[in-house]
Amino acid sequence: MTTRRALLLQAALFSGLPAVTALTALAQTRRGNPQPPTPACVDENGGNHASGLTPEQTEGPYFKLSSPQRASLLEPGMAGTRLRLGGLVTDRNCRPLANVLIDLWQADAGGAYDNSGFRLRGHQFTDAEGRWRAETIVPGVYPGRTRHLHVKLQPPRGDILTTQLYFPGEPGNTRDPIFDKRLLMTVAGDEAAQIARFDFVLDLG
Ligand code: FE
Repeated sequence: MTTRRALLLQAALFSGLPAVTALTALAQTRRGNPQPPTPACVDENGGNHASGLTPEQTEGPYFKLSSPQRASLLEPGMAGTRLRLGGLVTDRNCRPLANVLIDLWQADAGGAYDNSGFRLRGHQFTDAEGRWRAETIVPGVYPGRTRHLHVKLQPPRGDILTTQLYFPGEPGNTRDPIFDKRLLMTVAGDEAAQIARFDFVLDLG
């Protein structure tokens, strides 16, 4: 993928990231309803940004404690389609949550997890505006499951959310009994590189 194309994809997926909160506050002021119980977050394109709490899912058999702190899970020579991930973590009221620990783990391009080391495992913290970003590869599929990423989010105060993220258009999505379309990422790109976005909403606030 050309640099220009990658930048355009990134702009399309990440536009409005810092503006979400301000726009939401503005929209609420205009409606004269400063604190609705379950507000929709509105991005700068007028789209729904976060319409509900992020559902929980099983952690599965391959979680490991004490992953290294790193935003890039890429290692030299790693096979697979490059994948850049990112999005926001907010509370129920669309307020960005800073310092949320995000722990990612996933299968390699062949569908295997590293259970002896920490390959394709890592954690990071959201920044002051609730943003997270990561660099990795598109995970391979393994028997019984559609393509997915595993994630745990631990806010400074509050419960851990364990869940999984999915890829749109995967043939396995309809066959996987735990697939949940509310956990679909927005994905753009091709076989060389992909960019994906997911905004988490935690039951806080
Ligand atoms: Fe898995």
